[in-house]
Amino acid sequence: MNTYARLPVTFVKGEGVWLWDDRGERYLDALSGVAVCGLGHCHPRLAKAICEQASTLIHTSNLYRIEKQERLAECLVALSGMDNAFFCNSGAEANEAAIKLARLHGHNRGISLPTIIVMERSFHGRTMATLTASGNRKVQAGFEPLLSGFVRAPYNNLEAVAQVAANNKDVVAILVEPFQGEGGVNIPEAHYLQQLRALCDQNGWLLMLDEVQSGIGRSGKWFAFQHSQIMPDVITLAKGLGGGVPIGACLAKGVAADVFKPGNHASTFGGNPLACAAALETLQVIEDENLIGHAAEIGDFMRDRFKRQLADVVGVVQVRGQGLIVGVELAVPCVELVKRALERKLLINVTSDKVVRLLPAFVMQQREAEQVVDVTCELIKEFLNS
Ligand SMILES: *Cc1c(COP(=O)(O)O)cnc(C)c1O
Repeated sequence: MNTYARLPVTFVKGEGVWLWDDRGERYLDALSGVAVCGLGHCHPRLAKAICEQASTLIHTSNLYRIEKQERLAECLVALSGMDNAFFCNSGAEANEAAIKLARLHGHNRGISLPTIIVMERSFHGRTMATLTASGNRKVQAGFEPLLSGFVRAPYNNLEAVAQVAANNKDVVAILVEPFQGEGGVNIPEAHYLQQLRALCDQNGWLLMLDEVQSGIGRSGKWFAFQHSQIMPDVITLAKGLGGGVPIGACLAKGVAADVFKPGNHASTFGGNPLACAAALETLQVIEDENLIGHAAEIGDFMRDRFKRQLADVVGVVQVRGQGLIVGVELAVPCVELVKRALERKLLINVTSDKVVRLLPAFVMQQREAEQVVDVTCELIKEFLNS
């Protein structure tokens, strides 16, 4: 169906931060399949793990125990400090699980119309519940009626959340991204999550973090909440978790970990042996190659270099980010830059109309990062002067 305005290029091969198209041209990838291929393209260890699992056992269903799913759950629980995991196949599905969990939690506590606080400019996916939760009219328009049970507050504004809550006795949870990716690479104040945590504790709400983009090392730690000395009740994961193989997860802790009972939620494919083998190897490679520390360094390096090269450029609003997400906000819409970068054999993204967004693989080296920044800066300057 006509759901994507695709760029006129077909990639047929990848290795590390490089992609080749069907004419043999090579491209530098600063987007990694939208924050998915953290290990770079076709990491030999990931490819081997997938091949081995594919020739051993691909799928059995969740009617039976799945050894690699149990091991993956143990890994994620150990890395995050959460208690348990539900596996699905995408970010939207992980958030659906979180939303259902919060609603059931509300019903268990006698709240018959449970309400979840969500944020302006947020993005949580394209299913009916997650597009309702998303704070972007473009994502919702034409798909009304939206779901009930959500109230919205501005991002990075604690007062507003407290105020929304004061007017609504049915609130059971907050669903929020530790940083907003699609919404324009918006990094909240340092104490934002701590303050939301305190508000949740005061009111008996669940703090549910959408770490679909920020999780699995992207923020410069395993999970973005680990920058702020708090524990969430629920976190959702997908994108980078399987290194390119579709898998999502909803992790829960404490009271939230005991909400679902057999029959409440399920997925045919969720956490199958193939997807879990890919995710297990992805986590192991990140650990063995110390990729998170490296990602954080490369991210800082890129932001510094952008700031220096764009310091006096009129029309550049701000360079920002965290870990290996880099955003450059311009004063004007700049979606055109994506095409111009493609002509220069560089893959970048523009989100929220005005924000150039880079999400390189964690394996990107300094020399490649320099090339990404230098070409992007040239393109930005040309664009602003034209
Ligand atoms: C990409 C994204 C989603 C949706 O993930 P899908 O796998 O496309 O369903 C949800 N939340 C955030 C924060 C995302 O970045």
